[in-house]
Amino acid sequence: METSTAGTLILPEFLIDQPGEPPRRGWGVRVAGAHVTAVGPHADLRAQYPGDAVWEAPRQALAPGFVNAHAHLYGVLAHGIPLAHAPSGFWPFLKDFWWPLVEDRLDHEMICAATDSLLVEMLRSGITTVYDCLEAPHSLPGSLPAQAEVARRRGVRAILSFEATERVSAENGQLGLRENADFVAASRRAGGLVSGLMCFHTTFTCSADFIRQAFALGRDLDSVVHMHCSEGVHEPEYALQHFGARPLFYYDQLGVAGPSMLASQCVQVSPEEIALIAARGVRMTHMPLSNCEVGGGVAPVPDLVAAGVMVGLGSDGYINDFFEVMRGAFLIHKAYRQDPRVMPAGLVWRLATEGGARALGLAQVGRLAPGWQADLQLIDADFPTPVAEHNLYEQLLLYRNRTHVRAVLVAGQVRVREGEVLGADLDAIRARTHAAAERLWSQV
Ligand SMILES: [Zn+2]
Repeated sequence: METSTAGTLILPEFLIDQPGEPPRRGWGVRVAGAHVTAVGPHADLRAQYPGDAVWEAPRQALAPGFVNAHAHLYGVLAHGIPLAHAPSGFWPFLKDFWWPLVEDRLDHEMICAATDSLLVEMLRSGITTVYDCLEAPHSLPGSLPAQAEVARRRGVRAILSFEATERVSAENGQLGLRENADFVAASRRAGGLVSGLMCFHTTFTCSADFIRQAFALGRDLDSVVHMHCSEGVHEPEYALQHFGARPLFYYDQLGVAGPSMLASQCVQVSPEEIALIAARGVRMTHMPLSNCEVGGGVAPVPDLVAAGVMVGLGSDGYINDFFEVMRGAFLIHKAYRQDPRVMPAGLVWRLATEGGARALGLAQVGRLAPGWQADLQLIDADFPTPVAEHNLYEQLLLYRNRTHVRAVLVAGQVRVREGEVLGADLDAIRARTHAAAERLWSQV
């Protein structure tokens, strides 16, 4: 779709325009420039826009692109890394593995190779927006601008941030905050699909003054402030021991728990913390599969949703096919609560799209409605059993994967066609990522 006055009518068998609401059979959208400009039954759109190009998509479902609301793009370099033994819990996972063997060794070339590799994989799986937090303390400064160049070339909507931390040194922490502040300002001046966000690590790697400084910078820049929160029992135990309060109450004592706070994970949160998250309007993202990986536990997402919290879904850079991530969110809570009624498919679809966009503070992303961004995907909806409005969400969520994504548009531009990521030399990307991984692994 080129930016011209004429538009394109995309006419699928089913339209998911507002994830969570009933899908519509025989409806489509009109895309002009970067936006959806009309939504309606095929016949109405054809009659109203006779001069438009028509993209027929029989036996396909048209849906908003996925919003991967929490990723670590460099994480792909750790897939398959040789380890003498598996970490014994969340804290050893960070202290003995993730920090010394991966994050502390990342350089710009490794970061850019991994970013390109995962952005292509994510586009292929229908992800049109990704939020990344980069923790690579020895790659400062300049890692976010380097990553941004890669994201701009791929044409994906990307929010990039550096996970500032004082665990290396106070000076390194300041470099991290500065990296975010400079990047938020510069990306805003540049415009386009890539933007920034203020970010720091946790209460156990950042001092109270540092946390207040991050929020002050966020306020000045009008940016959401992201942190990892209670991904396992380590952080609540640490906070109780050092601050006499669980992490959310500690943040509240610091005066920063509010709508500008984006707390990812929230696996080990108490019922009182859930009430506080809801009361203060804190945003939250859920990573069902990586919670399993690190043995962190099962996040109380059904309770957070019921309390009215803005919840997004993320891959955490672990398993990045978003259909797999949705299956995790759909199934894990049913098993854990011994209740198949929790986390219905329509709700999971909403978290995977508009929920993530709202958690990240993105306006008009995550639905297909007039004036909203034309970030969308066409998914093969040809199943062995009949598909109808009542079963479409479940059929897609349970029995599709990234190989069924036929086309992806970001801001009205075609990025995937017939399952192929346009402009991506997969062999070259694989060779570059292998070289980066081998270099990282050789130091283990
Ligand atoms: Zn994470």
